Amino acid sequence: MRPRTLLAFVLGLVLLVTGCGGPGRTPQRVTAQPSVSAAPTPTPSPKPQPSRTTPKPKPTLRPLPKKLPTGLHRRSGSPGVALTFDDGPDPRYTPQILAQLRAAHVTATFCLVGKQAKRYPNLVAQIVREGHQLCNHSWRHDVDLGRRPAAEIRADLERTNRAIRAAVPEAPITWFRQPGGRWTAEELTVARKLGLRPLHWSVDPQDWDHPPAKKIIARVESAAHHGSVVLMHDAGGDRTQTMAACRRLIPDLKRRYGIVRLR
Ligand SMILES: [Zn+2]
Repeated sequence: MRPRTLLAFVLGLVLLVTGCGGPGRTPQRVTAQPSVSAAPTPTPSPKPQPSRTTPKPKPTLRPLPKKLPTGLHRRSGSPGVALTFDDGPDPRYTPQILAQLRAAHVTATFCLVGKQAKRYPNLVAQIVREGHQLCNHSWRHDVDLGRRPAAEIRADLERTNRAIRAAVPEAPITWFRQPGGRWTAEELTVARKLGLRPLHWSVDPQDWDHPPAKKIIARVESAAHHGSVVLMHDAGGDRTQTMAACRRLIPDLKRRYGIVRLR
C-alpha cells in the first residue's frame, strides 16, 4: 500500500470509529419529557412580611348572656304608659315627633346617639326645653358595646354624655339603653357607676323594620297595658310610618292608660 493510500485508510478508520460527522450517525434521541432532576427548581418566594398597615385582629367579645340580665327597667313605674324614641336626634323626624307630643301635652324619653347629639345640639336643646327626658344610647349605636371591656364601655358612655351635656349642660341624663337591647351584666355595672339607670322596654312594635303604620299601631295596641314602656324610633332610617302611627297611638294610649314620665 502506497503511503497516501495508507493515510486515507487510517483517516477513514478513525472517522468510522468516532462516528464524528459521518452520514451514518445515529441522531441522539431527545426525550420529550424532561426528567424530574432536569426541571428547574422553583425559587421559594419570600414569606409575606406583616405590613405596618395590617389591621389588628378583632378583639374577642364577651359572649352575650342567654337571658337578659336582672335589674333592667322595663316598666314605666306608674299605671301610665311611657313612650321612648331611639337613635336620634334626627333633623327630619325629631321635630315631627316633638310637635305631636307637644300637641298632645305629653312627654317622652329620647335615647340619643352621641354622634347625633354632637351634630344636632339644637335638637337636643329643644328636646329638653319641651320637658322630655334624656337617655344615653351609646356613641355610635354599637350593638356589641356590652360585650367589650368595661373600660371601653365606660369611655363610650362618657363620650356620649359629654356630647349631650355640650348641648344641655344642666339637663339630667337619667337613663342608658343598650342598642339592640344586647345587654350584659358588666355593662349594667358600668352604667350604674356613671349614675345611669339601665332602661329596656316591654313593647316593641319593631318599627325599625319599616312595617306599615297600621301594623305598628296594631302591635303596640295589642301589647300595651298599664305600666308599659314602648320602644319606637325617630331616627336611623325612614321613620315615615312611625310618625304616621304615632298620630293615632299617642291619643289612643293617652286615653286608655295615660302617657307618663318614666320613674
Ligand atoms: Zn337604637
